[in-house]
Amino acid sequence: STQIQLVSRPTGWPTEENFRTVETELPELGDGQVRVANDFLSVDPYMRGRMNDVRSYVPPFALNETMTGGAVGRVVESRSDEHPVGSVVVHQLGWRDVAQADASQFRVVREIDGVPTSAYLGILGMTALTAYVGLQDVARMQEGDTVFVSGAAGAVGSAVGQIARILGAGRVIGSAGSPEKVDLLTGKYGFDAAFDYKQSPVRDQLREAAPDGIDVYFDNVGGDHLEAALDAFNDGGRTALCGAISAYNTVGTTPGPDNMSNIVTRGLTLQGFTVGNYLHRFPQFAEDMGTWLSEGRVTFDETIVHGIENTVEAFLGMLRGENTGKMVVSVGNS
Ligand code: NDP
Repeated sequence: STQIQLVSRPTGWPTEENFRTVETELPELGDGQVRVANDFLSVDPYMRGRMNDVRSYVPPFALNETMTGGAVGRVVESRSDEHPVGSVVVHQLGWRDVAQADASQFRVVREIDGVPTSAYLGILGMTALTAYVGLQDVARMQEGDTVFVSGAAGAVGSAVGQIARILGAGRVIGSAGSPEKVDLLTGKYGFDAAFDYKQSPVRDQLREAAPDGIDVYFDNVGGDHLEAALDAFNDGGRTALCGAISAYNTVGTTPGPDNMSNIVTRGLTLQGFTVGNYLHRFPQFAEDMGTWLSEGRVTFDETIVHGIENTVEAFLGMLRGENTGKMVVSVGNS
């Protein structure tokens, strides 16, 4: 099996030198084990945090061990009745072409006509669940709310905008890092307004896009975006703090918002969350999202990088914004 390991901890932007590729011989299957040929690997922003040796909600990646993370593949050999050969499974064994472990580590999913299995890493998986619970359980979005989401053309953000619309948002506003992404937001994803945060200050662009203020902010970016949202909030506004990707590769400290007192004067709520604490919501999410997809009310994009040898490059590309929707690596097993 080909596997990619972390060998040193990056400072600032990771480089290829922080990783190595190893080939391992897989032993024969033990009782209750399955062997899975991966189709797609997930590269995710949170992985950058786990490369640092700091206390967080998940322990850091171990050095000289294979990178863990979401992946989807097909069972090619099985000694488990619940995981017959041919079943599609999702797992967390990460950056390798073939995964082999106890069957309990693999969740069998249903194949849906016309939906690629990579969707289980995005619109039918962790990133869209994050959008679903962040809007509803964390930001407590109400009908008629004006909702602003940053990182809006990414995996989480594109789901946030569409779910907000379905839940009856009054106005949905998104920001992203290129004119093409901005067009996609208002064209394909049904956002009412969108802007390119690289063109001029977020504060100014958000004020223009939300003349009547915002009620909910879904924060994927932090920094200048959070500061702009604190300026734009109506009384009683709510933020789901989901991520702060603008700072993931910075070295040293970054300035905080200069308008924190708005939290007091406008009675705002800022609540952080990690999707791992909301897995109990998965069944309801899967049912709703399955319906929305089949009714054509939700659509999605994926950026597919081909070849396991390009996984690190895919990860870095995602951090640089080269993806639209979910970034995945196609392993080439199918
Ligand atoms: P995306 O698909 O959104 O990919 C990352 C995107 O971030 C890039 O495409 C890029 O888009 C944008 N980006 C990179 N640098 C910057 C910057 N300096 N300022 C603004 N945008 C930037 O990734 P995900 O959807 O997987 O994740 C989105 C966010 O959600 C991340 O912050 C992630 O950590 C968080 N997350 C949190 C979870 C939780 O449980 N709390 C679970 C899953 C994700 P662009 O071209 O627009 O710059």
